[in-house]
Amino acid sequence: MELLMHFCQCKLRTVLPRTLSRVGRRNHHCTPQSFHSVHASSKPVAPTPLVSRLFQPSNLREGQEVGDMTCRSQRLMLQAGLIHLSNPGCFYYLPAALRSMEKLVRLIDEEMQAIGGQKVDMPALCAAELWKRSGRWELMGKEMFRLQDRHNIDYCLGPTHEEAVTELLASQSTLSYKQLPLLLYQVTRKFRDEQKPKFGLLRGREFYMKDMYSFDYSEEAALHTYQSVCHAYGRLLDRLGLRWVQVQADTGNIGGTLSHEFHLPAEVGEDRLLMCENCGFSANVETLEAGQTDCPQCHTAPFTESKGIEVGHTFYLGTKYSQVFNATFTNAQNKLAMSVMGCFGLGVTRILAASLEVLSSEDSIRWPGLLAPYQVCILPPKKGSKASEAVHLAEDLVQNIGNILPNLKGEVVMDDRTQLTIGKRMKDANRLGYPYVVVVGQKAMEENPVFEVVCQQSGETVFLSRDALLDLLSNVETV
Ligand code: ATP
Ligand code: MG
Repeated sequence: MELLMHFCQCKLRTVLPRTLSRVGRRNHHCTPQSFHSVHASSKPVAPTPLVSRLFQPSNLREGQEVGDMTCRSQRLMLQAGLIHLSNPGCFYYLPAALRSMEKLVRLIDEEMQAIGGQKVDMPALCAAELWKRSGRWELMGKEMFRLQDRHNIDYCLGPTHEEAVTELLASQSTLSYKQLPLLLYQVTRKFRDEQKPKFGLLRGREFYMKDMYSFDYSEEAALHTYQSVCHAYGRLLDRLGLRWVQVQADTGNIGGTLSHEFHLPAEVGEDRLLMCENCGFSANVETLEAGQTDCPQCHTAPFTESKGIEVGHTFYLGTKYSQVFNATFTNAQNKLAMSVMGCFGLGVTRILAASLEVLSSEDSIRWPGLLAPYQVCILPPKKGSKASEAVHLAEDLVQNIGNILPNLKGEVVMDDRTQLTIGKRMKDANRLGYPYVVVVGQKAMEENPVFEVVCQQSGETVFLSRDALLDLLSNVETV
């Protein structure tokens, strides 16, 4: 009797949402007129994603070799249907990867806007003329993708945007010191004809970067801005749950006088980092004298060496670019003065791959919790099994989560491939790395029903009642 009551309650609870979702689906076939009459003012409701329908084609068979240009994150991303190779260093970002990247971008937006960043979007097609003025048209060499328009005018596909943004600022004759610091940033595709594109998204020829450019009224103010961006980078990497180091870095062809890189320590990393155990000083080995064995700061301790993946790079530029382009502002004395600049890059697609590189095992993806494409995967019982009756409990659960937990809106998928065993689907779910996998099986039909919950982040499997499960999931942080 109690069991019957339970079913009835579940049914009652879900009548409304189910009816609504059926209406939503039916509307795909409506005439435009009837569509307007039903939905004129309401937002469309996305149906629960079903694993059988998701476009995540595996682009690597188990055990298939992909040569020496590969690494763990690339193999896992190909295997899980996250990316597809187009041509060397250029990838299709498939739906799950894009979901993850959009989350990363939202997180970056939060951090950049918390320190006053304003988002812009600059042209990818950049006039050679600007680059000739800064002297980098030659300096960039073969790394730059160059092209001509129909009037034979030279352009490049932007590998970075110091020239473009400084020119933008220089064109503003009314910029006042009261508007400074000005922090403009964008998240866009960058193009670099890398000599050896490799390791999937870690070194592409077309990749996403967040690049921020700061304009200040004095050197002191610019250094303050520099520190605040470095803090924001640290906070971002902390929120992703990644182990990172900030090291003294070379300024390369971007120039300037002060520079740091943010690295994730990893064997596959292409940079060598030295860290002083005594005073905490750390540097990219490129910045030290050849053969230097003691710390340049405290002169005592030997270094610890590790390899790192560079995920971010900050530069204090001073007036290097503002002078070239005459990027000035009006100061408190009503005189024109040169803006003092900084620039700050973060490899968006590189962070995505690098975090999988350091967190995952050889055959299973583990995401930074906030970046998982979906937070929860629900596994209904196998068709024809003893527990097959519980299939509607799985549907109810999805509805409950949708109705009760705003943090998980759009974050739940149902693995509806019920012709497969739970074991097989569990293996796939592990490989894709959903932070929470919920099995709705025999135990969900018992007098005190419970769900089996596999928590990827902690590695635990627990059995929880519906309320306890909802409680657990209500604490899942999403972005
Ligand atoms: P690297 O030394 O790895 O070639 P870089 O020093 O040339 O990088 P920056 O100009 O500092 O790169 O670019 C800012 C950030 O953009 C880097 O810290 C990195 O995270 C990312 N990035 C640079 N090149 C690539 C690439 N080819 N593929 C993916 N991300 C990249
Ligand atoms: Mg760099």
